[in-house]
Amino acid sequence: MPVRAVQPSRANTVPWPDEAVARYTANGYWEGLSLGEHLYAAADAAADAVCLVDGELRLSFRDLMARADGAAVRLRALGLRADDRVVVQLPNCWEFVVLTVACLRLGAIPVMALSAHRRQEISSMAALAEARAIVVPDTLKGFDHQAMAHEVADTTASVEQILVVGSDIRVDSVDLRSLCRPADDAVQVRRELDRTAPDGAAVALFLLSGGTTGLPKLIARTHNDYAYMARRAAQLCGLGPDTVYLAVLPLGHGYPMAGPGVLGTLMSGGRVVITSSPAPERAFAAIERERVTMTSLVPAAAQRWLEYREADPVPDLSSLRLLQVAGSRLADHVARQINPALGCTLQQVYGMAEGLLCLTRPDDPEEVICHTQGRPICPDDEILLVDDHGEPVPAGERGVLLTRGPYTPRGYYRAEELNARAFIGEGWYSTGDVVRQRPDGNLVVEGRDKDVINRGGEKIWAEEVENFAYQVDGVSLAAAVAMPDPELGERVCLYVVSYPGRTVGLADVQAVMERAGVARFKLPERLVLVDSLPSTAVGKIDKKGLRADISLRLSTQPATAEHRTGSVSA
Ligand code: AMP
Repeated sequence: MPVRAVQPSRANTVPWPDEAVARYTANGYWEGLSLGEHLYAAADAAADAVCLVDGELRLSFRDLMARADGAAVRLRALGLRADDRVVVQLPNCWEFVVLTVACLRLGAIPVMALSAHRRQEISSMAALAEARAIVVPDTLKGFDHQAMAHEVADTTASVEQILVVGSDIRVDSVDLRSLCRPADDAVQVRRELDRTAPDGAAVALFLLSGGTTGLPKLIARTHNDYAYMARRAAQLCGLGPDTVYLAVLPLGHGYPMAGPGVLGTLMSGGRVVITSSPAPERAFAAIERERVTMTSLVPAAAQRWLEYREADPVPDLSSLRLLQVAGSRLADHVARQINPALGCTLQQVYGMAEGLLCLTRPDDPEEVICHTQGRPICPDDEILLVDDHGEPVPAGERGVLLTRGPYTPRGYYRAEELNARAFIGEGWYSTGDVVRQRPDGNLVVEGRDKDVINRGGEKIWAEEVENFAYQVDGVSLAAAVAMPDPELGERVCLYVVSYPGRTVGLADVQAVMERAGVARFKLPERLVLVDSLPSTAVGKIDKKGLRADISLRLSTQPATAEHRTGSVSA
């Protein structure tokens, strides 16, 4: 056993109660090891096996761990220590994996951002986490991430280092690729990092909650809980040394990283193949070339894969055994097409960055796989469905899902006030999802009781969009709602009441949000100008009515972006 030189960092996190710690440990879920130790256990068993493929680059377990350890000591030479926070905003690439493992070895804590995030999101998460470093690509899709990171550093006192992947590294940035060289004396460096390995109870990484209320919500996931989730999901998916996992979704999300994803695959001795997008033409080529056995998608991407497959049945997908779909509700009729069209087993996944992970099992009957979102992975995952008054609903009825368990933390990081609302009773996380539980234990997600728009799996809090709308001259009232979309499931529609004699356009709201440096996926895509907004019996804006209204409008006026109408029929 290593000497635990690094004490678990729990500052500003909400610990599990002692009783739960004892139970989760006694039941074998928490092993007290760091993720780095878990990864080394797999690496030692097959050091020469190729475990990471990115384009032409193929790394064996030995290479991966030597590079991660090399990066860990070089990060330390830059002044980063255990418990220091590092905002990671990288596209899917091998450097992302090496850097993540390096942080896990050192005990530094990655804060997982998305490539789509902009100045607004990156600066607020850097400030909340008191990040000491930000890691970005030089540019991506025409956007200068390096310049943005330096701008954030200029206004965020804690940020000292900007690490960059790419060919255009500024003199005041650090070249991440050169940090990711193998350690010079791999054996010695390994021994040294082993000696100071983080405790299993220490925070391993911060995930971003799906959406923000104007402020980011960080979820502190520990080595113990994350390792359990990834390993248990890997076990339930039947992963092993013959697994080839294709990572197509952004690795900043917990689902492709650990559900079981990259970490679950590596800990099972398997191989990860990285691509930077779920576009079927590229993914199919990678599946054929690398004999991929498993991958994870969101429903919008799964739909594209089905369409592409119909148009081009040539690529050989026969190696693909399991296709996970999660992030938003997969329509039953699409679910039924997956196996016949792609020749693999579908796995529906319902989960959240806050913890709980539900899976259909590969050997479940087709009816379960196609019509449910699966069941929790752990016997100690507790779920409770409640009505509007917080009372448990009768068996089989729909209710808002509350959950607790060994990989569902009991509160957000540094968010006392919010925690009082989001974590109720004795540490139950209120998911805001409306769910039904079937007698066989499987959950069916039927809706949502939270003011969130789910755009192709990316979550947008209505309140955040509305706050920006109120900055537009002439806006008297604003309400953001989900409008149904055949491609992404939902997009943001904004209802606006303007002051008398004033008019407000979609471009005005978009311009305010762009100027504020907000991720583009949050921008409203349709604006409906109305004379008044409907309200509920208790005087709140009736969003249900607005959602029904936009659905009706779409069926009658699908093409135009803006409409001046009378009061909304709700
Ligand atoms: P995130 O934390 O970004 O993964 O978002 C979690 C949320 O996504 C959940 O609380 C649900 O609202 C939604 N979600 C995830 N998976 C599914 C699914 N299979 N069906 C319906 N909604 C889902």
